[in-house]
Amino acid sequence: MNTSTSFATTITTSTDGTNDPALRSWVASAAREAGDFPIQNLPYGRFRRRGSGEPWRIGVAIGDDVLDLRAALPAVSWPAPVAAAMAPLADGDLNAFMALGRPVWRATRAALSAALAVGSTAQASLAPCLVSQAEAEMTLPCRVGDYTDFYIGIHHATAVGKLFRPDNPLLPNYKWVPIGYHGRASSLGVGGDIRRPAGQLKAAGDEPPVFGPCKRLDYELELGALIGTANEQGRPVTIQAAEDALFGLTVLNDWSARDIQTWEYQPLGPFLSKSFATSISPWVVTMEALAPFRRPFVRPDGDPAPLPYLDSPFNRAAGALDVTLEVWLETAAMRAAGAPAVRLSQSNALDAAYWTWAQLVAHHTSNGCNLQPGDLLGSGTLSGPGAGQAASMLELSVGGKQPLLLPGGEQRTFLADGDRVTMRAYCQAVGTARIGLGEVSGTVQAAAAG
Ligand code: CA
Repeated sequence: MNTSTSFATTITTSTDGTNDPALRSWVASAAREAGDFPIQNLPYGRFRRRGSGEPWRIGVAIGDDVLDLRAALPAVSWPAPVAAAMAPLADGDLNAFMALGRPVWRATRAALSAALAVGSTAQASLAPCLVSQAEAEMTLPCRVGDYTDFYIGIHHATAVGKLFRPDNPLLPNYKWVPIGYHGRASSLGVGGDIRRPAGQLKAAGDEPPVFGPCKRLDYELELGALIGTANEQGRPVTIQAAEDALFGLTVLNDWSARDIQTWEYQPLGPFLSKSFATSISPWVVTMEALAPFRRPFVRPDGDPAPLPYLDSPFNRAAGALDVTLEVWLETAAMRAAGAPAVRLSQSNALDAAYWTWAQLVAHHTSNGCNLQPGDLLGSGTLSGPGAGQAASMLELSVGGKQPLLLPGGEQRTFLADGDRVTMRAYCQAVGTARIGLGEVSGTVQAAAAG
């Protein structure tokens, strides 16, 4: 880990005592091998006890449990600034906490880490504030005012480009401009039932188009970044400052109707093929927890260097992140037979991403566009270059031409009703605690009648 202080912005990515792999929690399940939520993680989510109808509140995942911050705030004598920062969390308002900025986030994380560590005097007071994750109902972690989806997975962009333009898969702007479009925030959720959309479809040879249920329903495995602090309209965020605007990451499934997309996308890009549903994992893993997994941002030899507004020494040294990403599929038949889900792909953001999060923030605001606390940026589909690393069915089935053979004899080119898609992400490296981003699952429901 690079902890040099020679960069203007080091606060995000420098590790501290909260990242120490030797740290242990008095919550025994936090030490479970390959668990997502050790004491070094401490992600935030919005929850309530399932079926209780009680107000939503922010909790911190620890092992198999959630620390209920609504209960924890009055249970312990927190340092005054931390207690003030935790007040909106107790009220279920993560956005207000996100707006407070990195020094407050770090102080709160340090206090939570100390309180949950072995030997803490807060143990007896906080133990009753734990709720089993199995009993927690989760919702979106924050209000997402705006959602932007980028396209930074260069292997995905190349593979999809080849389906349409075999000789010229990447358009000339790709290596210069972080490509993106404005998505739809109202249809964001944390998974569950996903209704198959209907729309205009026009298969080759169809004349005219028809309206009906999507026949080529797909997923896209992405990471989502949640913005912490806002910028004023007309005031771009420099790449040096961009790191401090980022609050944390989630796993993101950009559900995609390929047949609707094919017919509608020119000339203005995706519209109804994407806006029916987007799912994110309910736990936001903070940039502080991800600090041990920072890696240099490098470009292949011969590729253009980013323009100066997308370049900084810090970004080159530690702008990228080592995150492993997986997609799992369980069909209705597999579920009925009690068969386990099958892994469709495994990829890594380090291989897949052509731009860093700081570059996306700097680019997004470079025209003066203002970002707000809770805004969501999707990375784009994070496919790797190899077999078994394709993070959408469009790629796995080569545009629907090569069906996937599933255990049990089923085949898929795109998703069928009853299919359950689960995406997971985690970080692991020698000498660090494993940090999981949790998972997001969605089950495809039949299109609405009529
Ligand atoms: Ca996408």
